[in-house]
Amino acid sequence: MQKRIWSALTLAVCVAAAPQVPVDAQEGRGRGLAAGGTIAGAGRGYPTPEQYAGSKEAQAHVARARAIAGSDPKLLARFENACGPLGPQRPALEAQNAGQKPAPPQPVEPVRIFDNLWYFGFNTVGAWAIQTSDGIILIDALNTVQDAETLIEPALRKVGLSPADVKYVIVGHGHFDHFGGAPYFQDKYKARIALSALDWDLIERPNPNANPAQANRPRPRRDVVVSDGQTITVGDATVTLMVTPGHTVGTLAYLIPVKYRGQPLTVLMLSGANITPDRASLTAFNRALDAAKAAGAQALINGHPGLFGDELGWMDQLRKNPNGPNDFVYTKDQFAKFIDIMKECAASRVVAMGL
Ligand SMILES: [Zn+2]
Repeated sequence: MQKRIWSALTLAVCVAAAPQVPVDAQEGRGRGLAAGGTIAGAGRGYPTPEQYAGSKEAQAHVARARAIAGSDPKLLARFENACGPLGPQRPALEAQNAGQKPAPPQPVEPVRIFDNLWYFGFNTVGAWAIQTSDGIILIDALNTVQDAETLIEPALRKVGLSPADVKYVIVGHGHFDHFGGAPYFQDKYKARIALSALDWDLIERPNPNANPAQANRPRPRRDVVVSDGQTITVGDATVTLMVTPGHTVGTLAYLIPVKYRGQPLTVLMLSGANITPDRASLTAFNRALDAAKAAGAQALINGHPGLFGDELGWMDQLRKNPNGPNDFVYTKDQFAKFIDIMKECAASRVVAMGL
């Protein structure tokens, strides 16, 4: 984390995975942010490195998080990722902050993470498919209708799933790289499209900064308006949705029931990267994490591989050896500790800002 504090020093005025970035400034291809104007860092949802290092209260939270990790190497790595003035960062942004050129977005082979959960998409942003006894629930739909047609649809078929069985697309938050392909499934397969109320507003509100190409890009028509705690059931799977404002005003967190080697397992999905710019968002974040702990969650996923750990590496390992080690999985006790670490780290940033 020491390295991350120093790199943050150069970062304060650059880039971070930010709250409330203008819709069109965010695109999974890693370009938007660099080109898309100033975003977070100090004063916009994050403490400065000086505030963070200088706050006794913040450092007390960091020390507690460190102690929870103990000598468990997996939890220590999560602690390093979750704490710090900026918290978890997308690899593309970390590269940019370090003055390096981020890896160009490359389509990746679909990969089965759990018995009925797949990842599709790019090395920078992706979508997830949950197979149920009565159809498919998609989480996010990449950047564009072209991505949905040329990447998600063939990937579904490649793993033996039918695009026509997509019943829902539950979009994590109102940025293009998450809802861009949703109109394709809405129009062609009559899939239901779900977003939180505030993020429906976000995507429907014209963005004055958008360039014409982006401004005219199709958006899904308002459909399922998700409220905090709402569940969506398809067949034998009930997904629980929680509103965790921070990255956008209506970012969602999910509890997803899957099967892992035939046994039930609960997955937590955080669509907004632990961003808690104020007390209210910290409270909502903690409520979602408490629900995950109560559900006995054992894995964490998101839309940007590399945000919470070497997810691309873990995926590659599973492609090569599907029945081998799965680094997405924690024991229930380990994941409960991971949750406490994420809570302490998020609190450390809020108190460092004097909030
Ligand atoms: Zn976003």
